[in-house]
Amino acid sequence: MNDNCIFCKIIGKEIPSTTLYEDEDFCIIMDISPASKGHAILLVKKHVPNIFELDAELASKALVVVSKVAKAMKEELKCDGMNILQNNGEAAGQTVFHLHIHLIPRYKDDQVNITWNPGKYGEGEAAALADAIRKRL
Ligand code: 5GP
Ligand code: ZN
Repeated sequence: MNDNCIFCKIIGKEIPSTTLYEDEDFCIIMDISPASKGHAILLVKKHVPNIFELDAELASKALVVVSKVAKAMKEELKCDGMNILQNNGEAAGQTVFHLHIHLIPRYKDDQVNITWNPGKYGEGEAAALADAIRKRL
């Protein structure tokens, strides 16, 4: 629990939210400013700021929950697709520094915009990066 963290306060029920799912490690709440109908966010109950500080056990459990709830959302909302996304750090668009995973239902012709300009690697660049990163695993 972090006293200055809005998601810790939501998890601790100090601030109200609409809960969709809860277990001992996670809760999923409806996003207060939804990108689309049904936009929800999975919160890790423990105050973990970002994925760089998330342990392997919680990381693996999180995807099990996300996949289970995503299926229920798809059935109920009849959405055409879903973005599962997760921002880490201000540079990546994170605004609440308590780890969360977005479940954003997508509807044909909706106004949600999650895009980037496709770049290009130079000769051997991708392989060199992959080799360098792999050494740190
Ligand atoms: P981020 O930009 O950090 O990836 O996402 C933070 C998300 O938390 C945003 O989609 C924002 O709408 C949502 N959010 C921020 N404050 C609250 C709140 O008090 N209640 C709920 N339910 N969602 C919140
Ligand atoms: Zn927190």
